[in-house]
Amino acid sequence: MSEGFFMNIEYSSRAGRIPPYLFAELERLTAEKKKQGVDIISLGIGDPDIPTPKFVIEVLQEEVEKPGNHQYPSSQGERFYREAVAKWYFIRFGVELDPDKEVCNVMGSKEGIANIARAFVNPGDSVLVPDPAYPVYYNGATILCDGKPVVMPLLEENGFLPQYDAIPQSELKKSKMVYVNYPNNPIGAVASNEFLKETIQFALENNLILCYDNAYSEFTFDDYVAPSIFEFEGAKECAVEFHSCSKTFCMTGHRVGWAVGNEKATAGLKKIKSNIDSGCPMYIQKAGAAALASYTSRKRPEVVEKIMKEYEYRRNVLADGLNGIGVKCSKPKATFYVWARVPFGDSLSFVKKVLEQGVVITAGTGFGKYGEGYVRFALTQNEDKIKEAVERISGSL
Ligand SMILES: *Cc1c(COP(=O)(O)O)cnc(C)c1O
Repeated sequence: MSEGFFMNIEYSSRAGRIPPYLFAELERLTAEKKKQGVDIISLGIGDPDIPTPKFVIEVLQEEVEKPGNHQYPSSQGERFYREAVAKWYFIRFGVELDPDKEVCNVMGSKEGIANIARAFVNPGDSVLVPDPAYPVYYNGATILCDGKPVVMPLLEENGFLPQYDAIPQSELKKSKMVYVNYPNNPIGAVASNEFLKETIQFALENNLILCYDNAYSEFTFDDYVAPSIFEFEGAKECAVEFHSCSKTFCMTGHRVGWAVGNEKATAGLKKIKSNIDSGCPMYIQKAGAAALASYTSRKRPEVVEKIMKEYEYRRNVLADGLNGIGVKCSKPKATFYVWARVPFGDSLSFVKKVLEQGVVITAGTGFGKYGEGYVRFALTQNEDKIKEAVERISGSL
């Protein structure tokens, strides 16, 4: 499309404030490689390569046929769905939720993470966001509400946790919300219970809505079990937790998730959503509810366990392989990412060097400026491809 198509229409100032897409050039280089016939191995995007479990697909197929599921759903989620979410929280975390007041369906957690800000952030308000981080906190939530992102660096020397006492008081006074995400994308770091308790205290003391992104609570390895924020005292008074079927059940394409917790925060999100979307298709909600119902105890069901064992195995193959060729990384206890230090140069130049060998990875700077010096590998290829990727990367060192 030519520039002229837009004539004299300008982007809104908030759309103009979304930072330029860093990877346009990389995507062009990748497309060029493909055209040259190079068989690219992509460890770039965090999207499960394993298909959605069969029992979920069967529910989906059955439900899509029913005319009763062809009409407008409720944007907060049907009651059966909200009950399924509440039940899962009780079975998995021992947390009680009121399906009417404390649960809202979202069409993937990304949507909820962005939309909740519309209910609470006024132009000029500050929002505390980690860096490096999932870019939605900064852009989709804060910038698109004309808010001011205040960055909390996640540094290796602090265990990749934000330092709340380093945030200037002047910013804290203007802050409405804080986004926190553990197990963490892109780093793979996990948080201790002490840190989560500290986070709740910090939110309560500073009158902040704590937006806890728990997308990877089930995506854990080596006997590590991730908690819900609501396992800790005081969380219901300040927090809303975002989660979805996307990663746990390999359902990124189905767009089904939930926001749960603080009644006022949940109500705010429902109010916004009822004015923007008309809800997640009912057959998708049925599939989501069926996926959650596979949990019959705190332990992951066999079907999820199998998926996680596969990613755990790939993590070992990749991390051992990378360390073996001098690309330093630790084995994450959770998520399907390996966060590695670049052996030389900066993040972007290393990514380009690796791309020369036909392997796509993500520069740490794609997640914020504190990602400089790192790259992210997604474990979304099978063992053989991962081994070959390591082999190829060793050729670029
Ligand atoms: C994948 C991911 C999500 C989930 O996104 P959906 O919209 O639910 O598919 C949320 N937060 C983080 C940090 C993620 O990596």
